[in-house]
Amino acid sequence: MVAEVLAAYRDVGVCVGDFVGDVHGIDVIVRQFPFVGFAGDRARGIRDRKKRGEGNREFVVKEMEIKRDVMEIIENLLFGENVTYLQCSKCKVKLSSVDTIVLHGTVGAGAISSALYLCRPDTSVSAHVVVGRDAEIFQLLPFDVKAWHAGKSFHAGRVNLNDCSIGIELDNAGELQRVGDRYYSCFGREYSPDQVYTTEEEGRARYWHSFTEGQFAVTEEICRLLKVCYGIKYLVRHSDITPRKTDPGPAFPFDELRKRLKF
Ligand SMILES: [Zn+2]
Repeated sequence: MVAEVLAAYRDVGVCVGDFVGDVHGIDVIVRQFPFVGFAGDRARGIRDRKKRGEGNREFVVKEMEIKRDVMEIIENLLFGENVTYLQCSKCKVKLSSVDTIVLHGTVGAGAISSALYLCRPDTSVSAHVVVGRDAEIFQLLPFDVKAWHAGKSFHAGRVNLNDCSIGIELDNAGELQRVGDRYYSCFGREYSPDQVYTTEEEGRARYWHSFTEGQFAVTEEICRLLKVCYGIKYLVRHSDITPRKTDPGPAFPFDELRKRLKF
């Protein structure tokens, strides 16, 4: 895991010396950019860093026992076994009201590299959560802070859905190109046929990177928590609110998710 995270950080141009990896499954402490990510006993970690004067001053979590096996939302943050928090400090505006969840596909090579890209101070995109293919979760922003994921968009008589929505990015390579018997993403990575979802439009086959069952299950769980916690009324895809967008694409079983969550 550490090697993978090293590679991901290198991908986004951060020097190896800038951080240390902590070998506890996915636990990673980053010294500089994008501040810090950690999982597991997160409340304790925040408390310890506050004692050392390293805590994020804008970011307060109550001291309480965290149940490790059940995911929950406390003070606009997800807590659970697979959750890592990466602070995206470029977004600071509070969301005044939220009633919509927007699902996206990253069209990227991995959850950690996509999460770091969204956290970067020099990119104009962000999201609240990135869900990886092994059901790992990265939260980048508290749910009451406005993220930049929907762009120009409209839904239910409103425009600019960033103002009223929570953005969830699902790690996925997007549409694939078939070359002979092999499948490649737009960034040149090959995917095995068992990860390919095929659609047919007007006699032309199109190929998409499939989503994993674990990714779907954890996305369902996050949406269920959000629905209860924030009274979410709408669950939409990016492609539903911005016509030029296609994500998360046909490989994502959106109707099934809506049905399960009773949207
Ligand atoms: Zn999107």
